Amino acid sequence: MRLVLATRNPGKIREMRKMLDLPGLNVLTFEEFPEWPQTEETGETLEENAILKAEGVRDRFGLAALADDSGLLVDALDGRPGVHSSRYAGPRGDAELNMDRLLAELHGVPAPERSARFSCVIAIALPGGELQVTRAECEGSILTRREGSGGFGYDPVFCPSGFDCSMAELSMEEKNVISHRGKAMRAARILLEAML
Ligand code: IMP
Repeated sequence: MRLVLATRNPGKIREMRKMLDLPGLNVLTFEEFPEWPQTEETGETLEENAILKAEGVRDRFGLAALADDSGLLVDALDGRPGVHSSRYAGPRGDAELNMDRLLAELHGVPAPERSARFSCVIAIALPGGELQVTRAECEGSILTRREGSGGFGYDPVFCPSGFDCSMAELSMEEKNVISHRGKAMRAARILLEAML
């Protein structure tokens, strides 16, 4: 079975590929397709956007497609940046500027009030029209400054619950065990195994 990863985010591709090493599954990325569809993320929820992306790629190539939509929800900011996480500081989607904005908005907020969670929705769209959706969270808190250089996005400022370091200080394997994407991908992997 051929499955297209409906994302151009290299951080997501690295993490997802690692979890899709299933016999009989041929994972393809945008690098194999010269004409990649531009899907506008016009949904108001992670679910809507994950489905838009998976169906957009499925419809363009007639192949099964898997998309992730994810975001960081900060309690002190009433759930922001949420569905707007990638472009929080502007349309270029610059992770450094996004972290600058987040740290500035939380300046002076004490540790007990810095709780947050990453959320991830995975949608799998099949050529026959079938759709499968999984969702998972990773609880934690926002640090007062960047720590570590691994991962991507907001990882340097996110401390997962039960850890004394940032997500960017974990190896990819350690991150995949606890992360929102790792958990949602394990559920998606079970669905894919059943389809193979
Ligand atoms: P989208 O799913 O492409 O709309 O964007 C998700 C955005 O949420 C990313 O660009 C990051 O800013 C953030 N994000 C999602 N997952 C992670 C993660 O595992 N680590 C750090 N940031 C993440």
